[in-house]
Amino acid sequence: MKTLPSTDVLIIGSGWTGLLMAKELSGRTPLSILILERGRPRMSEYIDGMDELEFFVRKHMMQDPSTDAIALRYSASERTRPVRQFGAFLPGTGVGGTGEHWGAVYPRLMPDCFEMYSKTVERYGKQKLPEDHSIQDWGITYDEVEPYYARSEREVGISGKAGNLNGKKIEGGNIFEGPRSSEYPMGPTLVPYFPTLFGATAKSLGYHPFVNATAIPSAEYTNPDGVTRPPCAFCGFCERTPCMIGAKAQPTSVYLPVVRKRKSVSLRTGITVRRIVHEKGANGGRATGVTYFDESGEEVFQPADLVILATYTLGNNHLLFLSGIGTPYDASTGKGTLGKNLTHQLQFGVNVFMDKPLNRFMGAGGTGIRMADFDADVFDHSKVDFIRGGVIGATMTGTQPISTFGDLPRSMKLPRWGSAWKKASVEWYDRVANIGFGGEHIPYAGNYFDLDTTYKNPAGDPLLRMTINWRDNERKMVDFMNAKMVEIGHAMGAKEVNPFPGYGNYDVTRYQSTHVQGGTIMAASPDRGVVNMQQQHWDISNLFVIGASTFPNSGAANPTPTILALTYRTADTIMDKYLKKPGMLA
Ligand SMILES: Cc1cc2nc3c(=O)[nH]c(=O)nc-3n(C[C@H](O)[C@H](O)[C@H](O)COP(=O)(O)OP(=O)(O)OC[C@H]3O[C@@H](n4cnc5c(N)ncnc54)[C@H](O)[C@@H]3O)c2cc1C
Repeated sequence: MKTLPSTDVLIIGSGWTGLLMAKELSGRTPLSILILERGRPRMSEYIDGMDELEFFVRKHMMQDPSTDAIALRYSASERTRPVRQFGAFLPGTGVGGTGEHWGAVYPRLMPDCFEMYSKTVERYGKQKLPEDHSIQDWGITYDEVEPYYARSEREVGISGKAGNLNGKKIEGGNIFEGPRSSEYPMGPTLVPYFPTLFGATAKSLGYHPFVNATAIPSAEYTNPDGVTRPPCAFCGFCERTPCMIGAKAQPTSVYLPVVRKRKSVSLRTGITVRRIVHEKGANGGRATGVTYFDESGEEVFQPADLVILATYTLGNNHLLFLSGIGTPYDASTGKGTLGKNLTHQLQFGVNVFMDKPLNRFMGAGGTGIRMADFDADVFDHSKVDFIRGGVIGATMTGTQPISTFGDLPRSMKLPRWGSAWKKASVEWYDRVANIGFGGEHIPYAGNYFDLDTTYKNPAGDPLLRMTINWRDNERKMVDFMNAKMVEIGHAMGAKEVNPFPGYGNYDVTRYQSTHVQGGTIMAASPDRGVVNMQQQHWDISNLFVIGASTFPNSGAANPTPTILALTYRTADTIMDKYLKKPGMLA
């Protein structure tokens, strides 16, 4: 196998985390940095115009299951099936990764989300914890992450309104959020009619609605790196597409403009990393580089002194398993850590049918109103039969005609075909919108990643396997929230509100959220997690793993603000501590 010239730092993946790490390290060190990305360079396609069929239906920007499928089963005793069409989650490929077609909602995790185990036990006792749970505290607290949240909000450019500034509660913001050291860099975005009505109704019912924090600029914004983005035009092509005018924050519009100017950084595309190569050493192991397939399909060895794994939750787990790094988790004994605590944030919606047009072709990913009255442990759980919670809200992301045609009031009892259905679908097309829920998924001993024993990818490597199913805690939480959402929908004056059918088994076809977490979780000791609280691998000191794969549990808040906050923190630690004295940090 050919060996290429060595690099000081090698970053695998060019999404939010990979490009941020490259920006930080290249800004303060002279190290040579090489980023390897399996997908293509992107940019020109954005300004050529948008096409629903190409981006929403054919999933132009997303991981290709013909080369990168995953395997799935509900439990260890069930048959595994390969997932040949992504539906429940839509990871990206290409420069910028998933953050190019994300929705840009930008909330922080609730403080007690980092200490879910101890806070739940403290308030309700151990008997309240669900059977088979594997909840554990993160080992870091909200207060430690707060300065990095604030930094990410300034650099990514977030619009919003604080609800808790240094402990002072502020009406109109999320009064349940953790204390913030600073206001958002921009005021909130405009809010379309349907979410505005949702907010007014929620308030009249005694709840505390607030405008979403979002990475959609409400005004022209120049960040501390000098990168300027225009305000959002609410064109409706946002989530699942990149932004045509460069308003929505994307890795290619926030970090790439800085990284591109740095001579110490090079970015190779069309490169699929196959293994992280490592050797045993006196003080734990050492990564020596990676092997990858180049664009011609030849496998080569790329040496490196420091390796950063930034390939989203699925890639981070898969590459560690394939490379034989870490001890695979064994669900039957609870031993081992790699693959443990797979979570997938809960999401569902109820359809609200109104008597007037909603102009829902307009909007942006993060534009809307939320309420956190049922989030985390904000409300008393002693009288409900589940723990934790989530956020209810109404967002106008911009609705496309092909993918959303045919949502009709259930009371019409029409089959999904024929001229009566088509006529009714046209009539209702712009008069239906969604009240949505995003909720915490707690970890269970029986939900985990490993390597599949049957199905392989085109290179002959086993597919990554997810063993995952819902438990009663999720089903009961969803039923509880569903009822609250239906109540709000009726109070909004809806003609009809169609509840969500509820959670049966995990459904790989219905879009859930691309907020899949865990598998390489952080913990204060190597017997409990794969990485330490600096996201440094417990077995290999020159390997850092960044992204939501290090989250021990899922919050109700969308994960990217926390992913980025932790990446800033890790970058600082690498520069302030690791590079001065390479070795284990904790
Ligand atoms: C439709 C949608 C809406 C979303 N909305 C929100 C939201 O509103 N708020 C929020 O917080 N989050 C949202 N997310 C999630 C958010 O996009 C992700 O959390 C974030 O992009 C993850 O960043 P990352 O750097 O960890 O991974 P990614 O952005 O996925 O980057 C990983 C990169 O690694 C590359 N890669 C993978 N394997 C290899 C390999 N073997 N070799 C080389 N390269 C490889 C991939 O091609 C990819 O470019 C959304 C996601 C989707 C799909």
